[in-house]
Amino acid sequence: MRAWVFAGPGLDLVEQTRPDPELDKHDILIRVATCGVCRTDLHVRDGELADIPYPIVPGHQVVGDVVATGGASPIPIGARVGVAWLGWTCGECRYCASGRENLCDGARFHGYHIDGGYADVMRADARFCFELDRGVDPVTTAPLLCAGLIGFRSLRLAGDAQRIGIYGYGSAAHIVTQVALHAGQEVFAFTSPGDDATQAFARELGASWAGGSDEAAPAPLDAALIFAPVGALVPKALKDVRKGGAVVCGGIHMSDIPSFPYADLWGERQLRSVANLTRQDGHDFMALAAEGFLTPKVTTYPMRDANTALADLRSGALTGSAVLVNNSD
Ligand SMILES: [Zn+2]
Ligand SMILES: [Zn+2]
Repeated sequence: MRAWVFAGPGLDLVEQTRPDPELDKHDILIRVATCGVCRTDLHVRDGELADIPYPIVPGHQVVGDVVATGGASPIPIGARVGVAWLGWTCGECRYCASGRENLCDGARFHGYHIDGGYADVMRADARFCFELDRGVDPVTTAPLLCAGLIGFRSLRLAGDAQRIGIYGYGSAAHIVTQVALHAGQEVFAFTSPGDDATQAFARELGASWAGGSDEAAPAPLDAALIFAPVGALVPKALKDVRKGGAVVCGGIHMSDIPSFPYADLWGERQLRSVANLTRQDGHDFMALAAEGFLTPKVTTYPMRDANTALADLRSGALTGSAVLVNNSD
């Protein structure tokens, strides 16, 4: 098998040829069809997460087909599966025991602790995979498995909100826009100042308003979702939400948050992060997605051009989601 590997922090991917991974009893071997590109992959490249076990194969938005099983897999050979960020949880800690396995003390994640989907094949614990309809499009389904899921969890944690501000308008934002509009909510999109193309894209998708993150919200927001890894957006978003509103940070890594006056938090405004996902989030969201109303805008790259895809994500050249396609070329 070929795999694209980060050998250490700050290094681009290199292609390696490896033997296929060995399977434990709950594992499946998946022939990768597509793998979405996530900002977290850049954080892994840059060494911005704790204790990355280099060399590591990134990728945690995988659609593929099961080609082998370890014998105790609940998913059979031939099934089409989706692989998301959550790779394993202990099942025993206080978080696992209370329906919050996303916070498990021993959790392991695909493309971070466990080799991910920038490869011809990957190994995954079937109990953490999502069996998909055989007819799903691997290209438009891949971005749902992190961008869509984390957006969905962020939106849920925003609570009962009508006007939703979204800060950082990439893969997660453009999918959660569709989820929010489907639920009858309104979306206000904040992009990098002067990014007219992305603002136009947000309006096309149905956002009520789109502007730069240096502009005040045109009306008080009920909630704000921050997907850009920019800590300075936190006090800005707090100013945009009304009393009792929530600011939800959806990214795994963010630059430091500047200090801000307590008055901006006063009025029972809430500030919280979203960490990972539970399997229940995955089942709930993939069931919602199966209704068919989500249409991610995808730019595809051959798997061997993964470094180009990551560079385009970093530079802001992408609109929507990037997906690597494994042509076994
Ligand atoms: Zn646990
Ligand atoms: Zn991700």
